[in-house]
Amino acid sequence: MKEGTVIKVSGPLVVAKGLAGTNIYDMVRVGEQRLLGEVVEIRSDEYSVQVYEETEGIGPGQPVYPKGVPLDVELGPGLIGSIFDGIQRPLDVIASRMGSYIARGVEYPPLERERKWHFVPVPRKAGDIVGQGDILGTVRESALVEHRIMVPHGVEGRVSVTAEGDYALDDAVAEVETSSGVVDIKMLQRWPVRQARQVSKKLPPDQPLVTGQRVIDTFFPVAKGGTSCVPGPFGSGKTVVQHQLAKWSDADIVVYVGCGERGNEMADVLLSFPQLKDPRSQESLMARTVLVANTSNMPVAAREASIFTGITIAEYYRDMGYDVALMADSTSRWAEAMREMSCRLEEMPGEEGFPTYLGSRLAGFYERSGNVICLGAEPGESADRRGSLTIIGAVSPPGGDLSEPVVQATLRTVKVFWGLDERLASQRHFPAVNWLTSYSLYQQVVGRFAAKTIGPGWNDNRRKALRLLQRESELEELVRLVGMEALSQEDKLVMEAAKMIREDFLHQNAYDALDTYTSLEKQFYMLDTILTFYSRAQEATDQGVDLLQIIEIPVKDKIPELRLVAEGDWKVFEAVERDIVEQIDGLVKGGQVGI
Ligand code: ADP
Repeated sequence: MKEGTVIKVSGPLVVAKGLAGTNIYDMVRVGEQRLLGEVVEIRSDEYSVQVYEETEGIGPGQPVYPKGVPLDVELGPGLIGSIFDGIQRPLDVIASRMGSYIARGVEYPPLERERKWHFVPVPRKAGDIVGQGDILGTVRESALVEHRIMVPHGVEGRVSVTAEGDYALDDAVAEVETSSGVVDIKMLQRWPVRQARQVSKKLPPDQPLVTGQRVIDTFFPVAKGGTSCVPGPFGSGKTVVQHQLAKWSDADIVVYVGCGERGNEMADVLLSFPQLKDPRSQESLMARTVLVANTSNMPVAAREASIFTGITIAEYYRDMGYDVALMADSTSRWAEAMREMSCRLEEMPGEEGFPTYLGSRLAGFYERSGNVICLGAEPGESADRRGSLTIIGAVSPPGGDLSEPVVQATLRTVKVFWGLDERLASQRHFPAVNWLTSYSLYQQVVGRFAAKTIGPGWNDNRRKALRLLQRESELEELVRLVGMEALSQEDKLVMEAAKMIREDFLHQNAYDALDTYTSLEKQFYMLDTILTFYSRAQEATDQGVDLLQIIEIPVKDKIPELRLVAEGDWKVFEAVERDIVEQIDGLVKGGQVGI
């Protein structure tokens, strides 16, 4: 392949000539420092290269070395627990060998080559025929993840797998006799990042991704294999929501892409994740997490690489049959990077200067989500191997303006919208998810699941609670005009119940050890208690009891404390519900309420 020459440099964009044989999206190395770049446009003999490192010092006449392959990532044991930059350099390894500053052009293998992994073959008959995606054996990658070594795409034939033992990534663990010769299968594989990995079939999502966040799980749930977005102005809690999901959601694997974030937030992820424990297994959270984060000295173009690197790693684990969740924070920074590159490429601008392909690029990213039947099978495996990839993207529109192009393009694709509200954030109501504007198109799917696993009252309670909140917002108008006193008893009770839902249920402190996570069952009990209070109070006021008296029943003070009741301690909830009924009934009968 021919070596090219730089003819022009414009920030992260380098134009080269003489690269005949190089294709669009192929990787190149630019200049003496061999900076990594990707060809993003070819016009006759002019090759525009998006460079993923600072281009200072690069000038016309310097060489450009083609690599002849598209931008790809290494896949294999060792991904879990790693911290990569957008072009999959292992930041943790580099930091330990070279210090905090990464010299430009540094090439480091993303996955350790010397390390041996204990490979356990899946039992097979000699001479079995295998095809792409079939599992050949497993490796214990971390305390939480069993890495499944799969036959690479496009390989099919008679297999012979090595014996159980310790192997390095480059050692062959199997041989497949294909029609075009024998192929050695290693634990290390590569995949071009811009190409979605194939699956056997996409299915509609049918289970919730349980996040432990009450406003999400009960009101606006996301399904495993679904897509959601969290737009909100600066300071409204996007990052905290993303972190909470990464920590608590019941995915097997979490891939967290910090793309163009402010450095201190990413530092928070990098410092806090290794300290945190997975709530289900008590193992370190890193035992199921891969972090992708650009360093602050990487140019904007690297944001795009980090998104694609992250999603490819996520797909790889989905293909093994895992439930994977990918969080991208924030996709607005990626869109801004696209705008900058598009401008430098002198493309025709679309809305607000974003490229006209903004929508299709974002859609292409979210479409890589899904609840799927994976390619391949294991011997003796009767059911299809299922996996899922859920994508949750934060969007940070300037000034919180939801009508701007990135939010709008995202909303056209995703199925869940958690709208963060500046007003709620300023009132310190967190998570500041606005219950009037947010929505989830997985409500039915999740509702069916919850009705079966938690109880038939789940959907009814959700509907009632949302209705109360809606009524509250209508009544607020009236209260502003004529004051609380003008409301009827019934409306005053609606206001009281809605306040309880907001303060005692929706408000959830991410920094409190107990409040930070709530199981579906506990969410049900919490909401059910408030609604029991409401319905009983409604009956009592109908029978002439004064609302003020009802509001003062002693057990009401216990409701705000329910958030801190330990998981599984359902007797406490039952006792509170019983007391609510007894104490309100006591008022109806005109009796004394015991303290
Ligand atoms: P953004 O990423 O939208 O700029 P952050 O996620 O950094 O906003 O949130 C800003 C601040 O809001 C946090 O530092 C924290 O103090 C507070 N906050 C957000 N969500 C919660 C929550 N669930 N519980 C407690 N505090 C929260």
